[in-house]
Amino acid sequence: MLFDERPKTRRQELFDRDIEIEGIKSNVDRPLLVISGIRRIGKTSTLLVALNELGRDYVLIDCRKLKENYGRQDLYNLFSSSFSTVVDKVKGVLSGVRGVSILGNSIEFKWKGRDSVSLADLFDHLNGKRLIIAMDETQKLRGPLSKEVREAIAHAYDYDRNLTFILTGSEVGLLYDFLGVEDRESPLYGRYYYQITLDRFEKERATEFLRKGFDEISAKVSDEETEKLVEFFDGIPGWLTFGANRFLEGRKIEEVREIAIDVALNEIENLIETKRRVSEIVGRRYKNALKCLALGENSWSKLSNCLQRAEGSTMSSSVLENIITNLEKSSIIKDYEFLDPIYGEASKR
Ligand code: ADP
Repeated sequence: MLFDERPKTRRQELFDRDIEIEGIKSNVDRPLLVISGIRRIGKTSTLLVALNELGRDYVLIDCRKLKENYGRQDLYNLFSSSFSTVVDKVKGVLSGVRGVSILGNSIEFKWKGRDSVSLADLFDHLNGKRLIIAMDETQKLRGPLSKEVREAIAHAYDYDRNLTFILTGSEVGLLYDFLGVEDRESPLYGRYYYQITLDRFEKERATEFLRKGFDEISAKVSDEETEKLVEFFDGIPGWLTFGANRFLEGRKIEEVREIAIDVALNEIENLIETKRRVSEIVGRRYKNALKCLALGENSWSKLSNCLQRAEGSTMSSSVLENIITNLEKSSIIKDYEFLDPIYGEASKR
């Protein structure tokens, strides 16, 4: 169903994205593919459809499950639970490996002590078979173990020809920071990777998507209402799906709008909370910066003035630059504009 709110796994349920899926399928023998795009744009769906069509063995590691500043135990637990879904496929190359214990349908990677297995060794063993290692929201791997994970991926890139890594990320700048493809010090510096960038649908495609979804379930929705949804959600398929579902549940367009803004507000508050953990002042600055941007302060000087008014004190240019860079790297804004208009609306609150 086109409006199913879970990530799609079959092409019939996925609107458009044929080019991207073919791109993944025809480049899957490369060591590294990266799928980027803002939240709700359809990265996981596109990835899963391509993987299912390929019919190759793959493991999916959902890095969203890692908390900030995760430790080695958290990382290994995530790997263990992810690989436990493919025990049958990997048991041949992993049984008997030091640091790996396989019991029935579960795998455990030992994370500490002499009996542990390093990630690089794990990849070398997995290389005994053809395997795709997909990581969703890979930027969440940033943290104290960044270097170790990056080095293990770089090692596999160079030596493990049977492995393909497909990484997705919605905080695109942070993802590239983690990979270090532009950082001379990083082992992945200058390495080729196949890149898939998912963009929002143009207005007409978005309208077509909604019409097709409504038709599929024989829902009669007026052109005017369809248009309003498209206008508000700006061709972002995840929001269009969300909006269509709330609308079909009987909400009015205005209510649908408010519910979406509420969801976005919650996500923004989570972001601010991570800043607040640095300090109360930093948290407040980000909140004010988002509000200023949402109110249309779309240049360096306008934003600077607005922030100084809000804070009641002057702000150094390096502090402001830092805020802008971080918001850009998290794919919240680009050129002082919100990439997701719902985030913009929510930031006004
Ligand atoms: P992302 O991984 O980029 O956050 P998801 O793949 O999780 O995005 O998609 C978010 C929501 O939007 C899901 O409900 C998914 O089913 C829907 N969706 C995304 N892209 C499409 C598409 N091209 N066709 C139909 N539904 C889509």
